[in-house]
Amino acid sequence: MFKCDRCHKITQPGEKLTKHPVKYRDKVYQIMDTKFKGSIVTSYGKEIVKEINLCESCTNKIADETEGR
Ligand SMILES: [Zn+2]
Repeated sequence: MFKCDRCHKITQPGEKLTKHPVKYRDKVYQIMDTKFKGSIVTSYGKEIVKEINLCESCTNKIADETEGR
């Protein structure tokens, strides 16, 4: 059992918890290239800063919302 961060309800025992990321931060990865020594490969990605716990019904709602985009 856990408290859903979206609807703030206490879930049923055994209900699946879904972690949903809500906040991202840009992350820059710099990796040394193994083929060309001394050169650095830069790639950009996202890092999760914050995630919330969702109950099953909220997970379904969020999935519906994001599908429409
Ligand atoms: Zn919920």
